Amino acid sequence: ALSKNRVFRFAPSPNGLLHLGHALSAMLNHELAAACGGRFLLRMEDIDPARSRPEFEQAIYRDLAWLGLDWEKPVRRQSEHLAFYGAALERLTAMGVLYPGFLSRGEVKARVLAQEAAGGTWLRDPDGAPLYPTEERSLDRNLALGWIAAGRRHAWRLDMEKALALVPEALTWSEAGEGPDGETGAVVARPERWGDVILSRPDAPASYHLAVVLDDAAQGITDVVRGQDLFHATALHRLLQSLLGLPAPCYRHHGLVPGPDGRKLSKSNEDTGLAAYRERGVSPAGIRALLAGYGFVLH
Ligand code: GLU
Repeated sequence: ALSKNRVFRFAPSPNGLLHLGHALSAMLNHELAAACGGRFLLRMEDIDPARSRPEFEQAIYRDLAWLGLDWEKPVRRQSEHLAFYGAALERLTAMGVLYPGFLSRGEVKARVLAQEAAGGTWLRDPDGAPLYPTEERSLDRNLALGWIAAGRRHAWRLDMEKALALVPEALTWSEAGEGPDGETGAVVARPERWGDVILSRPDAPASYHLAVVLDDAAQGITDVVRGQDLFHATALHRLLQSLLGLPAPCYRHHGLVPGPDGRKLSKSNEDTGLAAYRERGVSPAGIRALLAGYGFVLH
């Protein structure tokens, strides 16, 4: 529906270089906002201090300005809202859906390999990562807090079973674009496929999944337009929105721009960064033409 109250956003993580896929996302959001007289916001998802770098943030501003986009200021930067995410984590703790997980990725992997070597299978999430074992859900709380006080590495994980028990059975979202299976209309969310996801770690106080739903709500985002690689993550986002009583935006997941070798474009490949196109003399119109060549037509 056409409405002047619609709010779109582009939310890159400054941990690498923007490529053609980001140009598509950013321009699509900008264009959809302009078409309905709505707003276009930019958000820096710099929640992970180990991976975010100021020079990547500056490169993002430079690339977007070069593409001819403008956005509202000030830009929301996740690193400036840690207390906001912390308050949500406290609410989830009070709801009893968080527990500390102490197994490292390596320890989980060792178990998976052992199980598979024995001819068994291990459930994997939509990104292909093994689901976290569930036995620590019932760890004695005081024992766990003692370990944390003694400095043991841990992450705060969502107890998927308890979380699902707290939300309505049919969690859905409204998909406006063409999802991976051509979805349009209501999509049934299956967050259980993600298992007990990390919502916070000592070194990154809020995970991407938690911060993104909190920020979309705080910024009044009505339309989330992003790549198909995040389609299945939306199920988890709907679960978190439901637990935290946040409104659900409309979603649209666009197709991914293929890399030159037919593989996924990578933020760490300098040759396929937007800056590399600019340095080779490609114009913003040339970027649009390239995207059109892949079937993504922008106006
Ligand atoms: N920050 C995420 C990324 O760069 C995208 C978040 C989103 O659009 O929901 O992959």
